[in-house]
Amino acid sequence: MIDPILPTYNRVNLVFERGEGAWLFTREGQRYLDFTAGIAVNVLGHAHPHLVAALTEQAGKLWHMSNVFRIEGGERLAERLKAATFADTMFFTNSGAEALECAIKMARKYHTANGAPERYRIITFEGAFHGRTLATIAAGGNPKYLAGFGPETPGFDQVPFGDIEAVKAAIGPETGGILIEPVQGEGGVRSASWPFLRELRALADEHGLLLILDEVQCGVGRTGKFFAHEWAGITPDIMAVAKGIGGGFPVGACLAKEEAAKGMTAGTHGSTYGGNPLAMSVANAVLDVVLANGFLDHVQATSARLRQRLAELKDRHPAVVAEIRGEGLLLGIRTHVPNTDVVAAMREEHMLAPTASDNVVRLLPPLNIGDAEIEAAFTKLDAAFTRIENGLKDEALKGAAA
Ligand SMILES: *Cc1c(COP(=O)(O)O)cnc(C)c1O
Repeated sequence: MIDPILPTYNRVNLVFERGEGAWLFTREGQRYLDFTAGIAVNVLGHAHPHLVAALTEQAGKLWHMSNVFRIEGGERLAERLKAATFADTMFFTNSGAEALECAIKMARKYHTANGAPERYRIITFEGAFHGRTLATIAAGGNPKYLAGFGPETPGFDQVPFGDIEAVKAAIGPETGGILIEPVQGEGGVRSASWPFLRELRALADEHGLLLILDEVQCGVGRTGKFFAHEWAGITPDIMAVAKGIGGGFPVGACLAKEEAAKGMTAGTHGSTYGGNPLAMSVANAVLDVVLANGFLDHVQATSARLRQRLAELKDRHPAVVAEIRGEGLLLGIRTHVPNTDVVAAMREEHMLAPTASDNVVRLLPPLNIGDAEIEAAFTKLDAAFTRIENGLKDEALKGAAA
């Protein structure tokens, strides 16, 4: 009999009752270290007092308003994001995929407004993940996510990640933009090199293309800058944001320069829920913390300490750990054994982390973790890797006996 929840996930049989910072608690009181953080969503951990206060205060006043009225929280959030980024304007959504849909529509509309509606095609990259809507699975190009869902939404040309010659070769008269994650999350915690991003910026300028960044996972402080592209010293024309910006409340945003947004006039796009007062109150509260003096420096320092511990683990467990990669607190451990075995062993040690492509285990802790959580992670990973090594030894013994 089918599960009453559509069985599109292979769920882990664990139920949590509450969370506090980087820790999750079962009803029985068992404690887990949460380095999944809702897949880079809970940037301030669970039940952060400032976010709880913002949400409960707003909940007593006004939950939802149609976007046909002004929403003060949204106006404030937009002004703050405008001040903190390249953007002149933005559209609020409820998810990352919707932010990408807005970005794709905006890019197409821009060229239409310029009298070149044929320039609807967007260059994307192998290993990309942009969401699960019909257009975003086509943009991501992962055959597993496309299979069986009918004709692929047209308009995306995929090239190898990091290959500037392939990008140049893919540019044609119908090309209107380039879409890239500065750091691929699902794709295996792979960073685009910062020079590569600069080359994309130059190519886009040269050919009149829009540079669209997907910072849904790597944005909002995750890499130690507010947005990852700041490391490269470039600005995009359009950027999709979600995950961390709501700290656990569903919020996304499509940010843009004024020129790129020029086709998006009244009536061209909309969302019932996008930017509602509850969402805006929490997103503003997230910014209060993430943009506070010293917060991003703390993320960078935390990253350096965690990476040092991971390097030690690599030395201690060469049969398990192949490579440590990533930026800030978007880190990946590529493993010699199946990554699913590794996260299962970590779970035995009461530590949670998601996998990624390329046989990588992702570490996506809340951005405000401290030394206690870093040391707990080290101890748990050390124990999990030892568990796996013992398993490998047992197998070798069995093999020798057979
Ligand atoms: C998660 C993610 C998305 C999709 O976000 P949803 O909120 O699940 O729609 C898009 N792009 C990237 C890079 C992501 O990590």
